[in-house]
Amino acid sequence: SEELMIKSEKLSVVGQLAAGVAHEIRNPLTALKGFVQLLQSNVHTKDEYFNIMLSELDRIELIINELLILAKPVDVQFQFHDLKVLIETVVALLRTQAILSNVQIATDCDPALPAVLCDENRLKQVLVNLLKNAIEAMPRGGQIVVQARQEDDRTILIRVIDEGMGIPEDSLPRLGEPFFTTKEKGVGLGLTMSYQIIESHGGQMHFESEVGAGTTVEILLPIDPRAANNRAAVDAEVSCQSK
Ligand code: ADP
Ligand code: MG
Repeated sequence: SEELMIKSEKLSVVGQLAAGVAHEIRNPLTALKGFVQLLQSNVHTKDEYFNIMLSELDRIELIINELLILAKPVDVQFQFHDLKVLIETVVALLRTQAILSNVQIATDCDPALPAVLCDENRLKQVLVNLLKNAIEAMPRGGQIVVQARQEDDRTILIRVIDEGMGIPEDSLPRLGEPFFTTKEKGVGLGLTMSYQIIESHGGQMHFESEVGAGTTVEILLPIDPRAANNRAAVDAEVSCQSK
């Protein structure tokens, strides 16, 4: 609805700026990449320079694509969803990547979980981000457990537990900071995006970690964000009424 769109625009001025810049960069980038590829196919010496140029262009493309996902307008689509199904779907999505890294993912969901009023795709995106981080934290393999249970009559608790390298204490406050990454090929926007989404659901996310032992991410998610007095509540209400 129009009212919802106005709210969304207000919420994402920074996001819109980022999306604008990302789009502006993507067009010249695509052209550059095309010409480098064309040159590569015509010139037969110094191939490694072209490979470096192309891999650097790929890197810029990756960052631009993540920025574009992050900057999508906050057009919230709150509906009641079965969290257990949502978790199983995401785990199935990442199973191949997990197997390739010798990682097993187990789920442990309370069968009596109530349906949660949430934006399904965004919540999936959070779980994808957390599971990818968990897989990447275990270069030699290991186990991930995803738990979900009811914390109290208003709140669900989701945990993603890994046995990975852990997070040094001085890095903990930086998690979620845009472009904070410790990975060679990292972008550092996954947690920025995740915090933003959980906040828009009126929820909270925190990390507990021990270097060399593993990391547990805890998400507290209201069953019905309309019951909480926050921004998400207002948006959810508008969205539900406009259906
Ligand atoms: P990226 O994965 O692109 O680096 P993220 O925002 O997803 O960006 O994560 C930021 C940083 O947080 C990572 O680079 C890593 O240092 C740390 N981190 C996040 N999750 C974990 C985890 N499960 N185990 C260890 N470190 C983690
Ligand atoms: Mg990540």
